[in-house]
Amino acid sequence: MQAIDAITANITRVQLPLPYDLMSMNSYIFEGKNGITIVDTGDSMPEAKEVWQRAIGNRRVERIVITHGHTDHLGCANWLRELYDAPVYMHEKTVHRVERLKAGLAAGRYVNPTDEVFALYGVHVELPNIEVTIDYRNYVVEPDVVFNEHTGIMLGDVHYDVLFTPGHSEDHVCFYNEAEQVLVVGDHLLEVLNPVILPTLQFLNPIEPYLSSFDMIEQLNVRHVLTGHLALVSDLKPRIQRLRTHYHKRILQTFDAVKNGNTTLHDVTAFVYAGKEGRLGHSMYAQTVAMLHYLAAIDKISIHGETPNRTFALPSFE
Ligand SMILES: [Zn+2]
Repeated sequence: MQAIDAITANITRVQLPLPYDLMSMNSYIFEGKNGITIVDTGDSMPEAKEVWQRAIGNRRVERIVITHGHTDHLGCANWLRELYDAPVYMHEKTVHRVERLKAGLAAGRYVNPTDEVFALYGVHVELPNIEVTIDYRNYVVEPDVVFNEHTGIMLGDVHYDVLFTPGHSEDHVCFYNEAEQVLVVGDHLLEVLNPVILPTLQFLNPIEPYLSSFDMIEQLNVRHVLTGHLALVSDLKPRIQRLRTHYHKRILQTFDAVKNGNTTLHDVTAFVYAGKEGRLGHSMYAQTVAMLHYLAAIDKISIHGETPNRTFALPSFE
């Protein structure tokens, strides 16, 4: 793996190792006359920090910008801020997400926000062992500057539009500059994987905004689609079309599962992912519950009962 490679004359990709899933993470350096802008930081681990020190060298870091509040995107933010004396820029929704994490930790517990949605339906999913060894304080990142769709953001010396694109996470943003034909997509679109769409209690129906964002994104004039993991998106419009097809297929499979009499989150997930090897994982439950909430929002199914015994059924027409 070539860890550091040039994308354009002033944008460099930095590929960082991650502690799980054999995946790597793409961060980006935007050059500017007053220093570099870092977009996304990688997870907090010594191997990632070593790559950063090599990638940054003795350049000044002007700012650190986060696309969304997942651990692999902001885990090194506190460390980078401290070492390079650089401000951290976060979207206001990411700030809220981190505030909830902080409140949970202050009360002595770490809560994965999507696990709180599973709990409505009596599902508890063990996360991989790596989680218990993590110091969650790395993910409590206070913003120095809060941005939003109205303020935009500077990446290097170039002003980018901030596109609010909730779906993969409730706080996700993309950055777009039309003249540069650059779109920073974080985990909103990936080339080789279908992003997992993650509901939280505050964001129960992520599929609806996720799919509708495609209509906006495919209008953009883009040459470089900078993804948060693995390969860059090589051709935006066909990729969006394949993603649409994928998620619509999942919506239909989920509806079929309910139509076939599966009433619990566990049974619907098992039906949709029948034939997949191994245990049902966190992302499978997350995907399924997101699809179920989407179907409920458009009145194709109904949700009954109380936590933790909520169930799904076709609507009754009385
Ligand atoms: Zn993510």
